[in-house]
Amino acid sequence: MDQPLQSTLPVMDHHWLPFTNNRLFRQEPQVFAKAEGVRYWTHDGREVLDGSSGLFCCAAGHGRPEIADAVHRQLMTLDYTPHFQRAAPISFEFATALAGLLPAGLDRVFFGGSGSEAVDTALKLCLAYHRSRGEGQRSRFVSRQWAYHGVNLGGTSLAGMVANRRDFSGVTCAVSHMRHTWSEEQRYSRGQPETGLDKAEDLEEICRTYGGDTIAAVFVEPVAGSIGTIVPPKGYLERLRAICDAHGILLVFDEVITGFGRLGAPFAGQEFGVTPDVMTMAKALTNGTIPMSAVACKTGIQQTIIEAARGDRPEFFHGYTYSAHPVACAAGLAALSIYRDEGLFERGQAMSDRFLDGVFGLRNLAQVADLRGYGMMAGIQLRPGAVPGEKGSRAQRALFDAGLHVKATGDALIFAPALVVEEADLDRMLEVLQKVLGRADL
Ligand code: PMP
Repeated sequence: MDQPLQSTLPVMDHHWLPFTNNRLFRQEPQVFAKAEGVRYWTHDGREVLDGSSGLFCCAAGHGRPEIADAVHRQLMTLDYTPHFQRAAPISFEFATALAGLLPAGLDRVFFGGSGSEAVDTALKLCLAYHRSRGEGQRSRFVSRQWAYHGVNLGGTSLAGMVANRRDFSGVTCAVSHMRHTWSEEQRYSRGQPETGLDKAEDLEEICRTYGGDTIAAVFVEPVAGSIGTIVPPKGYLERLRAICDAHGILLVFDEVITGFGRLGAPFAGQEFGVTPDVMTMAKALTNGTIPMSAVACKTGIQQTIIEAARGDRPEFFHGYTYSAHPVACAAGLAALSIYRDEGLFERGQAMSDRFLDGVFGLRNLAQVADLRGYGMMAGIQLRPGAVPGEKGSRAQRALFDAGLHVKATGDALIFAPALVVEEADLDRMLEVLQKVLGRADL
């Protein structure tokens, strides 16, 4: 960057920052004013490498002119379209392009504005599907300990990170939680762990307890992201698929983080060879530029709901003012073109060995207690301090001061650079991690 954008801080009284301790922020503001490629610059011009693709959304790096141009063109052509029997051509174009990337059989796409909206849409879609087949008694959902499925009320009910649920008791859905799949013997295992397949039997146990025919759907993140990257044990997703099939339960993969090449294949379903019935995606859907999410489902799920509908009413009375927003569709189409033209998923795959070698090279550092990783996504578990989560916050701050943005979650760091990252920048990110996590006094 040539010069600082603006060296004074903005007035900070009025904006209530999300997911932030606002008191602390005002004491120690961390303000990003510009971004390009895998770099941010703070308001006073300091360079900070982006080790978390923003929040795992900017797969093609920041400041892509192709997306900016497409957004500008769309704004000047058609800036908004209503629903209720109206639509824009670009939303069909985008859904068709997406269908070409999705796992075989999932080719119907419903748009929303965020990952949380996608999760709540998927919950309602599963209920609508069962109801239209005369199985309205299926109203229970299953998710997992340590799961993150967004912050709307449905996603909050599914939450397995207890802190995300605790303050909001009395929420709507009946949810049973399977155990998470991490265990002591998996410490420092790279890729899919050999142990933990037995945890899939928790689903059978829940079916025995409540009756398999009362369960609408099982929601899982194929790789649990927000807890700090927990990779599924070998055979685990396959076993969940088999149990769901045996009981007529829908399997939903929440691919808000894992989608768009993060693990290698376009989606985790393809990477692990397990096809869900319903899938959520967001974040890299538009390379993080314009808020947007999508739910994809199998053809037959949409057909069943449409065929069961009577009269002229919408068959699925659901949607958002900003569903299928034409400007977001333009950003998404431009992002998909970049992914295709630059072979970005293959690029991520080719970089993964170097990435994981670097991550697992952090093993002997003073602060490191466990390492996990798959594709271009890694979790660095830190030795906890006296209060859970404090070490993670301190590490996130110290890394920022040393020139690296990495998101902390509890006492883990989620390291997931953009798929466009160059080797030299990846090495610099790893050097900062080495330096900061090697400090005994952190
Ligand atoms: N599901 C998963 C798996 C996620 O990781 C996230 C966000 N980190 C969400 C849902 C929610 O997405 P959003 O923040 O866009 O609402």
